[in-house]
Amino acid sequence: MRLVLLSLLLSFSQLYAVEKSDEIQKNASFEKILSELVSRYESPSLPSPQLDEETLRELQNDDRMFVKVSASDKKERTKLLELGLDIVEIGKNYVTGFIHKNDLPLIESKSFAVLEKKTFSDWVKQFEKDFPAADSAYHNYKETYDYLVQLANDNKDIASLFSIGKTIEGRDIWVLRLNSSAKGQTKSSKPGAIFVGNHHAREHLSNEVPLLFAAYLLDNRQNPEIKKYLETLDIYIIPMFNPDGAEYDISTGKYKWHRKNMRKNSNGTIGVDLNRNYDTTWCRYGSSTSPGADTYCGTAPFSEPESAAMRDFILARKNIKTLQSYHSYGGMMLYPWGGSYDPVPNEKDRNAFIKMADKMGELTGYDPKQSSDLYAASGDTCDWAYEKAGIFAFTTELEGSSFYPGAAIIKGAVDRNIKAAVYLLSMTDNPYK
Ligand SMILES: [Zn+2]
Repeated sequence: MRLVLLSLLLSFSQLYAVEKSDEIQKNASFEKILSELVSRYESPSLPSPQLDEETLRELQNDDRMFVKVSASDKKERTKLLELGLDIVEIGKNYVTGFIHKNDLPLIESKSFAVLEKKTFSDWVKQFEKDFPAADSAYHNYKETYDYLVQLANDNKDIASLFSIGKTIEGRDIWVLRLNSSAKGQTKSSKPGAIFVGNHHAREHLSNEVPLLFAAYLLDNRQNPEIKKYLETLDIYIIPMFNPDGAEYDISTGKYKWHRKNMRKNSNGTIGVDLNRNYDTTWCRYGSSTSPGADTYCGTAPFSEPESAAMRDFILARKNIKTLQSYHSYGGMMLYPWGGSYDPVPNEKDRNAFIKMADKMGELTGYDPKQSSDLYAASGDTCDWAYEKAGIFAFTTELEGSSFYPGAAIIKGAVDRNIKAAVYLLSMTDNPYK
């Protein structure tokens, strides 16, 4: 991810600029992108960040606390989400996560034991030396867009790039479409598949996977299996769904652990959780009505331009059959419902979900399960896409043990998830087969 770290990074930026212009002359091929990633994170000479005063002040003013709270089952975890805790990790008898300091007394007043608590600025100190220059291999918004443009330009016969709508700060949400007979907004009757990443700002790995999957498909377009999918399917890849949040997260050269979009809430806090803003059991479970909470569901279903853009995009395309929404982290392959502990009632659909999740779990090494087995969370993309549009929609929690696992994780995660994504394409013409 590109850093705005000023003069400190001057030498690095120069190096980077050279790489960048070199890149533009050549094809944005999958292998090339990967080797560039590897060389960037293996480079020993990257400068380490130093924080300017404004960044330090911002960190100190972050109102969140990092807490460890007792919780032993999915119902307790769901309750904690509703009280405003943004769960980061699940242990056997506890969870850790962020909570706005105003919401902390609520948790303490219920029957949960707060085992540890730290201010955000104290907690984040432990990560200082890792960030962020070493992570410059990740693609920021501009770099992601540049690659998408290049992929589209290099494959004009089957690829087109357009925006599905604007974010709350006015950025375009780009989609790369792969279809051998239809471009741009033209309708297609071929079975469709959507791959979307980065609903949550700080989950930067979830941008890399679909971005590199696009490069992989185009690089291997002569491979007989891939060729068949490119000729018979209507494929949409949206690597960065929440660019405002993703850019904000890296805007100072110091990660902000930001999850939501950039909505300015009426009480002065920032952001709505886009993966709680879809209109299926909206705000009922595992969501918070407190605007400062990281799981804030918004003022109404689809109150946010990003989720509304996805709604309109999907509803305008009746041919979409499958969807994969990438998140991080935890190594899980999740299927609906997320907003209910009940299984999907239609048995045929349920069996298809389980079979596909199991297979993708096998291909990635991730754990397949019903989303609410983790905790219930209302209003996510996948519940809505299945309930309202009959789409076989999955959430992948990518591997890793942190939101910021470093750049060395990218290659393996991409390789594994390409296998699962290709499998999902193989099922898109008939998910019941
Ligand atoms: Zn997420």
